[in-house]
Amino acid sequence: MMDIRSYFPLLSQSVDGRPLVYLDNAATAQKPQVVIDVVNELHTSLNGNIHRGVHRMAEQCTERYEAARESVREYINAEKAHEVIFTSGATAGINLVAFAFGERYVGAGDEIVVTEMEHHSNIVPWQLLCERKGATLKVLPFADSGELRTDLLPALISKKTKLLAVAHVSNVLGSINPVDEIVRIAHAQGVPVLVDGAQGVQHLPVDVRQMGCDFYAFSGHKVYAPTGTGVLYAKEKFLDEMPPWQGGGDMVKTVTFDKTTYADLPYKFEAGTANYVGVIGLGAAIGFLKNLDLDAARLHEQELLRRATERLQEIDGLAIYGLAPQKCSIVSFALKGIHHLDVAQVLDKQGIAVRSGTLCAEPVARRYGLTGMVRASFAFYNTLAEVDALAEGLKRAKNMLS
Ligand code: PMP
Repeated sequence: MMDIRSYFPLLSQSVDGRPLVYLDNAATAQKPQVVIDVVNELHTSLNGNIHRGVHRMAEQCTERYEAARESVREYINAEKAHEVIFTSGATAGINLVAFAFGERYVGAGDEIVVTEMEHHSNIVPWQLLCERKGATLKVLPFADSGELRTDLLPALISKKTKLLAVAHVSNVLGSINPVDEIVRIAHAQGVPVLVDGAQGVQHLPVDVRQMGCDFYAFSGHKVYAPTGTGVLYAKEKFLDEMPPWQGGGDMVKTVTFDKTTYADLPYKFEAGTANYVGVIGLGAAIGFLKNLDLDAARLHEQELLRRATERLQEIDGLAIYGLAPQKCSIVSFALKGIHHLDVAQVLDKQGIAVRSGTLCAEPVARRYGLTGMVRASFAFYNTLAEVDALAEGLKRAKNMLS
């Protein structure tokens, strides 16, 4: 097999004469050449708006857009292709559910449960919903180790609970949450579950039917696809019962000033011109993944995680936040007495790209009494040498800044 890195042209760049060490994959992943080529091909020679025209370019784009839907369906093992809604990203998918589910099922006095480790995208839409409806947000805490306190869940769910929203994998702690078990507990009390898969689907096999979740949202750009693409998987029952989120072209059957009827699934939830170029690119990214040895890729990511955890823990004054036994390749940390932004900037000067700040999950930083952290996140194309470069870079940063 070709070296996996050679499929990703951006990775061979240099930064100020040093090889780029890209360790910000949880923010966005780089794109394989096949994805770049497809986007280029569409813009160069095959661009027609989907579901509208009868000319051949429109028809071919429509076919390829729907083929991408089938490809995603298969990848996450959804039962029906029309349970796959294309969105602009995980954020849009969660907002869609918060609005449409909220309109249909949530009223004053009801409760929504989220966890303390959620990304802002899986907190704020529920807060907005609670404000709109006079409902209350309940929060399931996590332990110091970064493990969810699932033991507290049965008591947190009540007759008023309308939905539970939980990350598959925390974008800060890296913890893999026991979503199958959470779904079982919630369903036993009749509560549907939304899983935020923005950090899950690129690292773990996802089988939505086995998981049993009612909604699963993720972003294309984190699974090696173009930005501005995303997927919301939702069970047909909910898609049937929920009202549309946005109105516009393509989501209607007939429109008169007296009454409008909506299109069949999935189009009822895909108003306006879709990002069909991006979605066809997402189809190419999924195709690329399907051709990889994903078991080997996942083992390699675990090896990167192990090595990073080991090497970073050797650094005096460095604390890793999130040491759950089940983790994806995300390592967030702080260096005692040194500001996270300074660390990230000194790393950048060495060609090492990491993320710093509250990582769009401010409650997690607050939980540990921090104003921010540094995060290194690894994809299967990262190498053990890059992990070592990070450790050495951090030692240099520490010497410079302390
Ligand atoms: N949830 C989690 C856990 C995330 O990590 C992210 C992205 N950082 C999101 C949701 C939101 O994804 P996007 O910004 O691509 O919509």
